[in-house]
Amino acid sequence: MGNSFKTFLKHTAKDFHNQSVNPPVVRASTIIFKSMKDIRKTQAKAIKNPTGGHYDYGRQGTSTTYILQKILTKLEESYHVFTTPTGFGAVFLAIFSVTRPGDEIIAADPVYSPTRLLTENFLKEFNIKTSFYNPHDLKTLEKNITKKTKLIFVENPGSNSFDFQDIGKILSIAKKHKVLTAIDNTWGTPYFLKPIKLGFDMSIVSATKYYSGHSDVMGGSLAVNKKVFPKVKATERITGLRLGPDDAYLITRGLRTLDVRLDRHRENAKKVAEFLSKFKNIKLLYPYKKDSYNFRMWKKYYSGASGLMGLKIKCKNINSVRKFVNSLKLFGYGYSWGGFESLALHQEYRETGNRKFLNLAKDEHLVRLHIGLEDPKDLIADLKKALKFIK
Ligand SMILES: *Cc1c(COP(=O)(O)O)cnc(C)c1O
Repeated sequence: MGNSFKTFLKHTAKDFHNQSVNPPVVRASTIIFKSMKDIRKTQAKAIKNPTGGHYDYGRQGTSTTYILQKILTKLEESYHVFTTPTGFGAVFLAIFSVTRPGDEIIAADPVYSPTRLLTENFLKEFNIKTSFYNPHDLKTLEKNITKKTKLIFVENPGSNSFDFQDIGKILSIAKKHKVLTAIDNTWGTPYFLKPIKLGFDMSIVSATKYYSGHSDVMGGSLAVNKKVFPKVKATERITGLRLGPDDAYLITRGLRTLDVRLDRHRENAKKVAEFLSKFKNIKLLYPYKKDSYNFRMWKKYYSGASGLMGLKIKCKNINSVRKFVNSLKLFGYGYSWGGFESLALHQEYRETGNRKFLNLAKDEHLVRLHIGLEDPKDLIADLKKALKFIK
C-alpha cells in the first residue's frame, strides 16, 4: 500500500482538473457520448474491465460513487466494493446474489433484527430456509449444514448481546463444507477487522454508521472477493440498488476522519467501560475485561474496538432501569449509531426478535450505549447521576 491508510484517507480523491481537494459531485441519469461508436466502446470496456468505472447510464453510478468504491476497496483490501442506498440494502444484495429457491442459509442467532426478518420470514416464502446457530457454540452451526446450505451469514459481534465469535473457526467449517460466507462488519469496520483478507467471501458495512460519522446520510457497502464478484455484479444490475452521488460524497467526506473518530470513540468507550465495570449489578458487553471468552475472541481478530456497547443490568424492578435510561441528559434516545453523538436505548419487551440462544433472566435488562465524541468526563458524570436509580 505504500503510505499507511491514515495518510491515504487524507490524500485520496483530489480533483486536479478542477483544482479541488475533494471530488466533484456528478449527478447524472443520462450520460452523453460523442457518437454511437463511443457508447459501444464504453460498453466493451465495461465488459472487459467490470470494476473499472465505465458507465453508460446513471443507474450504474457516476465518478462520485466510483471514487467512494475505490477508497473502500482499498480499506477492505477486497477485490471490489459495491455501494448501496442503505446498509440493509447491502445485506439484501449479499443474500440475494448467492441464494436461490431450494437453498439454505445458516445465520448467527444474534443478527440485526431486519436481517432476521428477511431470512427467517421473507425468504421462506421463496423456499429459502434459514436456521440459526449459537454464536458461542459452533457445533450448532456445523450440525445444521446440509447439501443445500449455500451461505453462512455471520454478524460480529452479535446485535445487542455483543457476542464475539471464533470467526476463524467459522471460516474453516465453511471451507470444509464448501459453503459461501458473509459477515456484517458494521461494528468494527475494516479499520479494525478486514474480513475479506481473513477469508470471507462478502463483507457488509452500514455506511450510515461510522463511515458517514455525522448522522446525516444513509448508505451501505458490500465488499467481495473475486469468486463471488460476478454473481453480485449481476444481482446489483437487476435490483437497481445504487447509492446516489450526493450521499456518496457525504460518505467520502466522513471517511477522511474515520481513523481519528474511531480512535477517539475507542478511547472514550474504554473510559466509560472502566467506570461501569465497578458496578456489581452491571455486566459489560464490550471488550474490556480480559477474563472473558468474548474478550479473547475480540483480541484474536480485531485491532481495536468502536464506541457501541451493551450493559446487562441485573435488577428486579424494570422501572428502575427505565428511570436510569430516561434520566440521562447527554445521551439521545434513537436508533442507529456511529455518529459523533452519544445515544442510549433500553431494549424493552425483549426487542430481540425470535432469538433462540439469548439467555436473559427475568431480572436482566439490556441497555445499549453509543459512546460519542463528547468529553468522557461529562458522559461519566451523567451516567453516575442516572445510575443512582438502579437499586
Ligand atoms: C444499522 C445496521 C444495519 C443497517 O444499516 P442501515 O444503513 O440502517 O440500513 C445493518 N447491520 C447492522 C449491524 C447495523 O447496525
